[in-house]
This record gives sequence, structure tokens and C-alpha cells, in this order.
Amino acid sequence: MSTARGIALVTGASSGFGLLTSIALAQKGYQVMATMRDLNRSDSLLLLAEKAGVSSSIDTLILDVTIQTSIERAISAIMKKYGRIDVLINNAGFAVGGYVEDVPMEAWRSQLETNVFGVIATTKAVLPIMRASQSGCIVNVSSVSGLSAFPGYAPYSTSKFAIEGFSESLRLEMLPFGIRVHLVEPGAYRTEIWRKGFEAIHTTEASPYWQQLSKVLAYSRKASMTAPDPQEVADVIARLVDKP
Ligand code: NDP
Repeated sequence: MSTARGIALVTGASSGFGLLTSIALAQKGYQVMATMRDLNRSDSLLLLAEKAGVSSSIDTLILDVTIQTSIERAISAIMKKYGRIDVLINNAGFAVGGYVEDVPMEAWRSQLETNVFGVIATTKAVLPIMRASQSGCIVNVSSVSGLSAFPGYAPYSTSKFAIEGFSESLRLEMLPFGIRVHLVEPGAYRTEIWRKGFEAIHTTEASPYWQQLSKVLAYSRKASMTAPDPQEVADVIARLVDKP
């Protein structure tokens, strides 16, 4: 039997907000299931956990939010070990960039598969467990791109606008059942999402939109270099879980 304040499942815990939120929740006394699609990417998390003295409060587990069996396997492993899930942080995500016409349909689908269907599938798998205990807290990580869009990132914005609607519906549905649903909408923070995003822009110099997009990219590159520490967002998420 765990003496932790609760069991918290975090998706996309190999870097950025997910990694830092896992540490922040462990520091608040939660037993954290820090999930990621590739456990070879767990070194930074484990090192930071050791430095923070919370290694024993963090379990690493494989969970790819785009694979239903991966979600089910992770949840059944958690249930077998701890018998409950009190907190779900739907954080895993990435950004697909490029002008609408230039982005191949498979990249559009892949963006929505992770950022939207990944959140829905993980939430659906956890809800019966929270409903049974008549308590729980879900935090969905959206973005300012879920509130307003700009040219060159339609796939990402589409996914985050969808998360806004999903979260609001879920929040209202769960109100009578004692399950809290929060939405966080960070601005630009210094994480790996930028590097990965710049490497995968679908508008190239051959595109009629290159000139326009290159202006957006120049602005984004500057923003990514001067962006604040993602610890701020991790602290906000941990505070929301702790004290709504
Ligand atoms: P990172 O790239 O540092 O972290 C993203 C995490 O998501 C990584 O752990 C990555 O895993 C994981 N991930 C991607 N695809 C999957 C998948 N299919 N299954 C499981 N995990 C997956 O970026 P951030 O920390 O910045 O991003 C976290 C969230 O914050 C995202 O939802 C993002 O949209 C949002 N956000 C970020 C902002 C920012 O400026 N940084 C601003 C607003 C919102 P892997 O290591 O394997 O790639």
C-alpha cells in the first residue's frame, strides 16, 4: 500500500513540461507514473529526480498515447501495483508546422493523432477508475495556440483548439462526479518542442508560401531563444493539482 498523497500519471515525461511536472508532483508527495514512449529517454528525468531526492516517488513506464494497447498496458500495470489513479496530466504533444497546402495529410493526421486523440484515448481509459473512486484531477496541456492562431502552424492550432473544446465538455460532464478538469494554456517556453518543430516544417523554399513562413519562423526562433523557464508551467500544474 502506497503512503503517497495520490497516484499521478503524466504523459510525455521524457522532457519539457512533462519531465518537470513529474518532479514537481513528486515533491508535493505524489507517487508519479512518469510515462514516455521510449524509456531510453528517461535519463534526464531520473537524474533530476535523484538531485531533487524524489527518485523513490517516480516510476517510469512506457506509454505511447497514439497506441491503444500501450495506454491499456500502462494503466493496468499502475492498477496492479497501486490500485488507483488520482491525477492525470495529459501533456504529451508536438507541433507540426507549415502552410495548410504544404502539410501532407499524413502529417495532419499524425498531429491530431497525438495531440487530440492521444488525450481523448488516455482520458477515456482513466475515467472509469476516477469515477469509481468519485474523485480525481485531470490537467490538459493546451497552448495559447488553442486560443488564437497565427499563419504557418495550422495543424498545431487545430489540435489545441480541439483540446479546448474537449476539456470544457469534459469539465462540465465531470462536475457532478467529483472529478476536476483543468486546462493550462502556456505561451512560449524553452523546451525541446521548438527544436523538434523547426526540424519538421513542411513548407520549404520551393513553396509559394516560403517568404511568408520564413518571417513567422524568424519570429518564432527569436521567441524560442528568449522564452522563459518551463519550470513555471510545471509549478502551475502541480499547484492546480494540489490546491484547485
Ligand atoms: P517537449 O518536446 O519537451 O515534450 C513533449 C513530450 O511529449 C516529450 O516527452 C515527447 O516524447 C512526448 N510525446 C510526443 N509524442 C508522444 C506520443 N505519441 N506518446 C507519448 N509521448 C509523446 O515539449 P513541451 O514540454 O514543450 O510540450 C509539452 C506540452 O506542452 C505539449 O502538449 C505542447 O503542445 C505544450 N505546449 C508547449 C509550449 C512551449 O512553448 N514549450 C507552449 C504551449 C504548450 P519524445 O521524447 O519521445 O519525443
